[in-house]
Amino acid sequence: MAASLPSWIDDGTRHVWRPYAQMKTAAPPLPVVRTHGSRIELADGRSLVDGVASWWTACHGYNHPAIADAVRRQLDTMPHVMFGGLTHEPAARLAQRLCTLLGPGFDRVFYTDSGSVAVEVAMKMAVQYWLNQGDRRRTRFLAFRGGYHGDTFGTMAVCDPDEGMHSLFRGLLTQHVMAPLPRDEPTMAQLDAIVQEHADELAGILVEPLVQGAGGMLMHPPGVLRRLRELADRHGLLLIYDEIFTGFGRTGTMFAFEQADARPDIITLSKALTGGTLPLAATVASQGVFEGFWSDDPSHALMHGPTFMGNALACAAAHASLDLFEQEPRLAQVAALSAALEAGLAPCRDLPWVRDVRILGAIGVVELAPPFDRDALRARLIEAGVWVRPFGNIVYLTPAFTISDEDLALLLAAVRNAVCDLHPARSHDR
Ligand code: PLP
Repeated sequence: MAASLPSWIDDGTRHVWRPYAQMKTAAPPLPVVRTHGSRIELADGRSLVDGVASWWTACHGYNHPAIADAVRRQLDTMPHVMFGGLTHEPAARLAQRLCTLLGPGFDRVFYTDSGSVAVEVAMKMAVQYWLNQGDRRRTRFLAFRGGYHGDTFGTMAVCDPDEGMHSLFRGLLTQHVMAPLPRDEPTMAQLDAIVQEHADELAGILVEPLVQGAGGMLMHPPGVLRRLRELADRHGLLLIYDEIFTGFGRTGTMFAFEQADARPDIITLSKALTGGTLPLAATVASQGVFEGFWSDDPSHALMHGPTFMGNALACAAAHASLDLFEQEPRLAQVAALSAALEAGLAPCRDLPWVRDVRILGAIGVVELAPPFDRDALRARLIEAGVWVRPFGNIVYLTPAFTISDEDLALLLAAVRNAVCDLHPARSHDR
């Protein structure tokens, strides 16, 4: 079979440095030749049901014709133009649309091209907000254990220092204030004390609302966000929500923060913003934060400007994606998906080597008790015809909101069986 595979697979891939992989030992990447709906077609003819939606981006499934048409039309008019000194309708209208969608309090959109950079910009905005007022002490952030905000140097410093992927760089990163996310009164009291101690040096509080994604799909109730808002208000800190994973329906509401009566001062968005088609991110600030930069003093300007910011193709894709949220019953699909994930993963709860099964919106997680062979588990899932990428101790599903019942059934059965088979004496269903 290998002889009939296209030559780029060997000749080209051997020059590619892959993400999150020990190149010497990692299994070779699967060559993909086509995507559609919730399907990933491989060069050898296999078709996998995608349980990951390409790192949580492809919320409408792959190749949605409405997004493809919008991008094609934009390509004919203007693929990209620099954003320094110039502007264009797709970016201007998208900013207006995002602020309306986010609701009261959101006023200004700063575009970037990746989630990490959107968080970098949020952090830079928060620190400069204080610098512009002459306060040079507020340079640190309160961030949380289990959190993940990106892979750049600035964002690595606000990820979980031990559990995350960046512990190697310990000592080289800015030391922020790390705390466990408060889950009850005693831990809230601990957090109060930590903030009290560091209040004068904090620029803000940074949190992934409702779900800490790449840090382990750890979920917390909306009340936590209300407490963080109170804490931020009490100490005059900026509250930043990183909704790069949770934004655009993933947790059941358009934005996770809608489930708590607690709005942030800055929010970061990316991933599903373009329906998973083109790289685009946004850091959206409140009127109050923006006013901190409104000045006759040129040094009070936000000095940031990625080359591809406000890319017109990506903005056109984002408009088409938002149209789909308006025209099609996406949030109802998420609710149905949530119920199906709950029912489909429930049998895993009975297994002694399963620590937890948790569901929120279109996120289904099975947490395993180590040790187990993660590589074998990954391979087993691919053999079963699904693309699911367990990491740490978890197997998770974050499919497209539009996944068909048949594909979802296949996905759930594959996960149940793979998890059951981790212990040779037990098998659930075949
Ligand atoms: N913030 C959160 C919550 C994320 O989940 C991610 C990526 O998984 C990022 C930031 C970083 O985004 P990117 O990979 O686009 O830089």
